[in-house]
Amino acid sequence: MTLSVKAYGAHAGDRPLEAIDITRRSPGEDDVQIAIAYCGICHSDLHQARAEWAGTLFPCVPGHEIVGRVVAVGAEVQGFTPGDLVGVGCIVDSCRHCQDCGDGLENYCDGMVGTYNGATRDAPGHTLGGYSEQIVVHQRYVLRVRHPEDQLAAVAPLLCAGITTWSPLKHWNAGSGSKVGIVGIGGLGHMGVKLAHALGAHVVAFTTSESKREAALALGADEVVVSRSQKEMAAHTASFDLIINTVAAPHDLDAFLVLLNRDGGMVLVGAPATPHPSPAVFNLIMKRRTLAGSMIGGIAETQEMLDFCAAHNVVADIELIRADEINAAYERMLKGDVKYRFVMDTTTLSA
Ligand code: NAP
Ligand code: ZN
Ligand code: ZN
Repeated sequence: MTLSVKAYGAHAGDRPLEAIDITRRSPGEDDVQIAIAYCGICHSDLHQARAEWAGTLFPCVPGHEIVGRVVAVGAEVQGFTPGDLVGVGCIVDSCRHCQDCGDGLENYCDGMVGTYNGATRDAPGHTLGGYSEQIVVHQRYVLRVRHPEDQLAAVAPLLCAGITTWSPLKHWNAGSGSKVGIVGIGGLGHMGVKLAHALGAHVVAFTTSESKREAALALGADEVVVSRSQKEMAAHTASFDLIINTVAAPHDLDAFLVLLNRDGGMVLVGAPATPHPSPAVFNLIMKRRTLAGSMIGGIAETQEMLDFCAAHNVVADIELIRADEINAAYERMLKGDVKYRFVMDTTTLSA
């Protein structure tokens, strides 16, 4: 038995997304069936739908910033009942017995199954994401949403943009007394600014867009640097504890490494299709700086982040779109023309 569901996806990397019909498994005993209300549009969706990274399987239905309501639950499901507001992020399965899974870091499990483009026994043999009306997910990977319902659309981006910036902020101890830089004020970056600010850090937003100077202050940045200005950059030399770099394109990392203080670190979360130029070793050696990477976050810390955001009234700044506006939204995202996250109203799939 399968469920018939409307979706939006791509049949090839060089073709636009279009309406397609997909199926979902009917819920098993540990499954939660969710009516999707909204799905955020991540730059990773664009990278994968357009086959910019290796390995996209088609048809590709992107979307891993999912919020909605529980429709049905399997017999073994505990803690979720029909009507509950829930979220699903980037992970829908993992091996459940390795060290990473045991540590609540399923994002680093070798058997992690992405919400789309991951291995599954369900048709068509790979997972299909949240640009769709419904999804069926094992209870272990379903998150509880405690925000008021009228904020639901703006909660969606927390499921990827939120956790991807939250996880390194927490791991590298951002908080009161630390100076944190966020590079690239797009979907991830604007959440990074909001979360670092809410954690009590002194936050500097780095943008290439003069037009975001005022807006980044409104997000919670204490200072804004337009990174094209060498003078503005030089004013922050050797002063940061942590820089989180979300930029989706290759660029000169040295310009930011020299802004780290002794023992400071820059964490790359942006995942460009082609590599950054390799940084100058002396910029790392001279002040024992580190260059690191980080990938989304585990299920437990995603729930921690959602609860923190509900308690501190943190949501994304969004622009709501219809499903059939997705291709135009991708083009605007490439130009940095979104403040700051597109969210698809998935109820328009059946319109
Ligand atoms: P986004 O909304 O498009 O934001 C990226 C921002 O980077 C832009 O708004 C822009 O900000 C800045 N930028 C500067 N130069 C750029 C250029 N040449 N091309 C594109 N952007 C440029 O993207 P996003 O959804 O935040 O995702 C950012 C990156 O993170 C993507 O590569 C995505 O695949 C990756 N990602 C990684 C993870 C992970 O687990 N590590 C999770 C999610 C996404 P300014 O205008 O302020 O300069
Ligand atoms: Zn994402
Ligand atoms: Zn595992």
